[in-house]
Amino acid sequence: MSITFSELALGEPLQRALRDRDYSTPSPIQEQTIPHVLEGHDVMGCAQTGTGKTAAFALPVLEHLTKHQKSRKPKSPRVLVIAPTRELAIQIHDSFGAYGTHLRHQSTVIFGGVGQNPQVQAIRRGPEVLVATPGRLLDLIGQGHISLRELEIFVIDEADRMLDMGFIHDVKKIIAELPKNRQSLFFSATMPPSIIELAGTILKNPKHVEVTPPATTVEKINQSLCHVAGSDKRDLLTHCLEENTEGLALVFTGMKHVANRIAEHLNKIGIPAAAIHGNKSQSARVRALDDFRSGRIRVLVATDIAARGIDVKGVDLVVNFDLPNEPDSYVHRIGRTARAGAEGKAISFCDEQSNGLLSQIEKNIRIKIPVNRDQPFHREPRHEERNATPPRGGQGGGRGRGGNQRGRSGGGQGGGNRRRNGGGGGNRRSSGSRSHSSAS
Ligand code: AMP
Repeated sequence: MSITFSELALGEPLQRALRDRDYSTPSPIQEQTIPHVLEGHDVMGCAQTGTGKTAAFALPVLEHLTKHQKSRKPKSPRVLVIAPTRELAIQIHDSFGAYGTHLRHQSTVIFGGVGQNPQVQAIRRGPEVLVATPGRLLDLIGQGHISLRELEIFVIDEADRMLDMGFIHDVKKIIAELPKNRQSLFFSATMPPSIIELAGTILKNPKHVEVTPPATTVEKINQSLCHVAGSDKRDLLTHCLEENTEGLALVFTGMKHVANRIAEHLNKIGIPAAAIHGNKSQSARVRALDDFRSGRIRVLVATDIAARGIDVKGVDLVVNFDLPNEPDSYVHRIGRTARAGAEGKAISFCDEQSNGLLSQIEKNIRIKIPVNRDQPFHREPRHEERNATPPRGGQGGGRGRGGNQRGRSGGGQGGGNRRRNGGGGGNRRSSGSRSHSSAS
């Protein structure tokens, strides 16, 4: 039933790039989206992370640029992609580079937290595609370094996350800068009313594409739940990492300092790990990701925001050390494993204070996560805990940057006496400077 890439009206250089990457068939979101974009329609896409949605917009955008060649104009991109985090922005830029490798187009990525001059220089060279996080984009527009007047295609990726992170005003300001006559592509993993409303202000007669119903979890992930005392969580994590030694593991915490503490602890007991969160410098984040990708560290401990754009092949295990405050984050987090059809495992810890959050998540994904009672730190939750309401309302527009989850978690005393032979292995890939490289 499924079609091949050659049946999609993509030119030979793109087909070749797909062959280079061993992509044989389009994923469902690509199959549905690419024809609409090529026909010039606006698209509203509901797709989880890991479904191949970056290529779903990048491929037809590159095809459009190839078919309608124009001479480059400084400061005036023809395509703008906005994404909520720098990691995701870099990844999208890298994808444009990979898919456009046999084309002559240029792409540039801009984001905050680093000096703006190299970015300004890159924009002066007139890249066709600009990938940006909202804050830095508005800064540079405000300073006259970018004009969106010539824009032909506007893409907003992970729109729901954008709103969760409090970017709604920035997004509205960006929309006000866009020319009326443009094509718009809107992607979100979930479609709550606030997202549908925002989409309504951006899209004209959009084609709707959806690959999984909102808030269902990726089927290939083996999910389990561990009821555990807060003070045992750290030891339970060590146990889980010792039980699952294959592949890379991504551990989510609610708070940045907890992420730091866990990474330190894991290193101490011989499991190479690093923490990644909003307080880390950009270079530290890039280094941690490179070390993780290359296998130099086995465990990355992350808060939600930092982990958003992480696309690392070979993540076999996701551990929710703290349950997320927002039920939708559960889907995003566990979607980091089982990417592009691989199988993965997600283990979630639920302590005395988290049963309210758990019931929200289970309501959202419409399944009960199977409980693992065989783990050594199992504690049966008391009846009153099960009926507890969550500490804060589930979804919310607040600026939840860097995770502001409930107070204590993961102190975990004692334990840590199961030494491992860390090894580390793997060659560290040089991080290079990808931020302003061109896409071809
Ligand atoms: P995304 O959802 O865009 O983050 O993509 C998830 C992963 O799937 C990335 O590692 C892509 O390189 C990979 N991918 C995307 N499209 C395909 C495809 N058609 N065949 C195989 N892998 C793909």
